[in-house]
Amino acid sequence: MTDASFDEVEIRRPDLRQPFPRRFRIRLTGQTVVALSRRAKYLLATLSSSETLLIHLGMSGSFRIDVPVEGGVGSTTGQPAPVDRHDHVVFHMSSGATIAYNDPRRFGLMNLLSRAALANHPALSRLGPEPLSPSFDALALARACKGKKTSLKAALLDQRVVAGLGNIYVSEALHRAGLSPRRRASTIVTPGGTPRASAHRLTSAITQVLTEAVARTLDSASYRSSRFRVYDREGKPCRRARCGGVIKRQTQAGRSTFYCPVCQD
Ligand SMILES: [Zn+2]
Repeated sequence: MTDASFDEVEIRRPDLRQPFPRRFRIRLTGQTVVALSRRAKYLLATLSSSETLLIHLGMSGSFRIDVPVEGGVGSTTGQPAPVDRHDHVVFHMSSGATIAYNDPRRFGLMNLLSRAALANHPALSRLGPEPLSPSFDALALARACKGKKTSLKAALLDQRVVAGLGNIYVSEALHRAGLSPRRRASTIVTPGGTPRASAHRLTSAITQVLTEAVARTLDSASYRSSRFRVYDREGKPCRRARCGGVIKRQTQAGRSTFYCPVCQD
C-alpha cells in the first residue's frame, strides 16, 4: 500500500462504529500513502496531504487485498474480485490493487486526522511504550508503576503503562516472572524510581511471551499445539519444574486471572 495512491474510494454504507469523517472519499482520493504503521490496536496510514488515516478493526474487521494479475484483477479469469456484502469500504489503488475492508459486526472505525489531532488523540496520545520496542525496558515499566496502588495485573492491562498487552499474555508473563498478579504494582520499583529485580524479570518475561506468540502465529502447526502455562488451566498442575502448585483462577477487575499460588508471589 505504501507509495500507492488512492485512485478511487467506494464507501458502501454511511458508518461503521461511527460515521465516516466528513468528505472522506474526497480527502482520500489522489493522496499517496507515505508510511504505514501500527500503534497499540490502531493502524495508521500517513498520507501525502499530511493527514493520517486511522483504522481500528474492532471485533471482526479485516482487509482483503486483490492484486492485479495478467489480464485482470484478483483472479486468473480476468474478472474483478467479487464484492462481499460486508465489504464496507473498497480502496482502488494506483498500483492496481483493490483493498476491501470487510467487517460483519461493524465495530471497526476509520477516521482522518491532522497531525495536531493525531498528537492529541485521547486513546493514542496517552499510550505507553510498545512492548517489543526499544523504549520498553525495566526503567520505563518501573516509572509507570511507581506509586501505583493497583494490582500488577491491572497495571499491565492499562494501555498507558504498556500498549497492546491483553489478558492472556499478562497472565502468562506474570507466571514466567514468578510474580503474583495480586501484588501491588508499586512493589517492582524502589521509592526512588529504580527498577527492582522483579521489574527486570517482568520486562524480559513480557518480551519473551510476546516474541514466542508472534513466532507461533507464523507457524500454524505449533500454534495449534501451543500450550499456555497458566491461562485457562484452572485446577491443573503448574508447568514450572518441581513447583507442584495447582493453577488458580480469580476475577480481577472483571477479567479472569490465572496464576500459580506456589511459585508466583
Ligand atoms: Zn507454580
